[in-house]
Amino acid sequence: MNLILLGPPGAGKGTQAKRLELRHGLTQISTGDMLRAEVAAGSAIGAEAKQIMESGALVPDALIISMIEGRIRQPDLRCGFILDGFPRTAAQAEALDAMLARLGKSLDAVILLRVDDSALVERIAGRFTCARCGAAYHDRFHPPHVPGICDICGSAEFTRRADDRAETVAARLLAYQSQTAPILPHYQASGRLHEVDGMAEMDAVTAEIEAVLAEVKTRGELIESR
Ligand code: ADP
Ligand code: ADP
Ligand code: ZN
Repeated sequence: MNLILLGPPGAGKGTQAKRLELRHGLTQISTGDMLRAEVAAGSAIGAEAKQIMESGALVPDALIISMIEGRIRQPDLRCGFILDGFPRTAAQAEALDAMLARLGKSLDAVILLRVDDSALVERIAGRFTCARCGAAYHDRFHPPHVPGICDICGSAEFTRRADDRAETVAARLLAYQSQTAPILPHYQASGRLHEVDGMAEMDAVTAEIEAVLAEVKTRGELIESR
């Protein structure tokens, strides 16, 4: 099964993608994570992307599209993939369609996490991760069980993203509204768009996504058996 998780910054795409990976053996492909890895490695791509990311704007389509193309060609995506943070522009959505057609792959569902702007600001401002194992936390909604100690690996070191500052959030929300939201009708028209209430608690959001996936699977089997 191949999925896209869509939604504004802080909607919970990464949180839900990690859960779907564990439950369904799917592979999360996060363009944000890939870009941050390039920045950390000091590569040419990282050098081009760093300042743009810190400003809250989108990095150029050509860079993102070639990065995704390289990733989707890898042979490790047997059970399917979850695109997290891609596509974010009309040009990216078109490139994805062309790429999948060329590779003989299909897109089973596009899941949109709907979250109010006011909640997004709080989610982004409180987000942090374990510096050692990458486990994700939130100051208020998902703090470590023992304050200051990672639940998973016991590390006491945490990091916050350079772009998760209040000043940058407005630019990121604007980029979503002006460049990403306009691609939604494309997926709606092909009947693949499914909206999920991202304002609910994490477990409830997961349950709603699971219900969508079950429906998509049943529909696929019905079509195949005809
Ligand atoms: P969030 O999880 O908050 O939505 P991401 O981690 O997906 O943010 O992305 C962080 C930043 O990386 C974006 O603000 C943007 O600068 C860049 N980026 C990530 N994915 C894309 C993309 N598909 N197109 C353009 N820029 C991207
Ligand atoms: P995205 O990948 O869409 O930018 P994340 O999955 O990183 O979003 O979530 C942003 C922050 O909000 C994280 O700190 C996460 O722990 C928290 N979060 C995610 N889903 C929920 C939810 N349903 N309710 C409250 N907080 C959430
Ligand atoms: Zn950890």
